[in-house]
Amino acid sequence: MSELLLSAQNLVKRFGGLAAVNGVSVDLHRGRIHAVIGPNGAGKSTLTNLLSGDLPTTSGQIRLNGQDITGLSPERISRQGLGRSYQKTNIFLPFTVRENVRLAAQSRERHAPFNPLHWFSAATHMAEANRRCERALELAGLTARAGSVAAATSHGEQRQLEIAMTLATEPTVLLLDEPLAGMGAAEAETMVALLHRLKAEHAIMLVEHDMDAVFALADVLTVMVNGQVIASGTPEQIRNDEGVQAAYLGE
Ligand code: ADP
Ligand code: MG
Repeated sequence: MSELLLSAQNLVKRFGGLAAVNGVSVDLHRGRIHAVIGPNGAGKSTLTNLLSGDLPTTSGQIRLNGQDITGLSPERISRQGLGRSYQKTNIFLPFTVRENVRLAAQSRERHAPFNPLHWFSAATHMAEANRRCERALELAGLTARAGSVAAATSHGEQRQLEIAMTLATEPTVLLLDEPLAGMGAAEAETMVALLHRLKAEHAIMLVEHDMDAVFALADVLTVMVNGQVIASGTPEQIRNDEGVQAAYLGE
């Protein structure tokens, strides 16, 4: 019933003597939001970077849609269906919301391997990129703001735009690192509703500090401390886990 889209086994990432990620396994299923929580320095961003290929693993294996992607470049991994948002934005502020999303939609073609048939079909590719762009704008709730210059949009809308840019490549798996960071209550509510809508079609890994949002959204929670998983389970199980309370939630 629930389709396993990404499976990581025993991931290890060492920075010199420090094991920032130390034997972490994680499974992401379509239709589920898998939240990863833990104190600062726990290894959450490093884990995200390993899954996206932005950092090479020291050891371990990652499978995406049934294929081994361990050691592939971020571009290859993106083309195989993994989308991630970055904590640091890559929005081009002088462009409109739509132009930013269209650039993201076109980037998938730019990285595609050379295929002589593409030479005949530039117009088809433009139409295809436009279709992905409009769909991403709509999914992210930005259609009405698409004509606005990105610099003139609110902080919350810029975070929605980052999600739209990620959606423009039509990923099946989404890795979101703190999408609610710096948001006020109303913006956070909009983002929570957006993530809730997205989970029907995607497998989502959500790294987030906002515990209200995490417990409102997560189907599965993994708690990391010092590079290791100390607990994994449903929100109910995590809430009642004494080890988690001692190590983290009770702080
Ligand atoms: P989190 O996202 O949970 O706050 P990080 O994954 O950013 O944690 O960091 C985990 C640990 O790895 C921290 O101790 C951090 O200082 C260290 N670390 C992260 N990136 C690097 C790097 N590029 N080089 C060396 N140490 C790093
Ligand atoms: Mg982090």
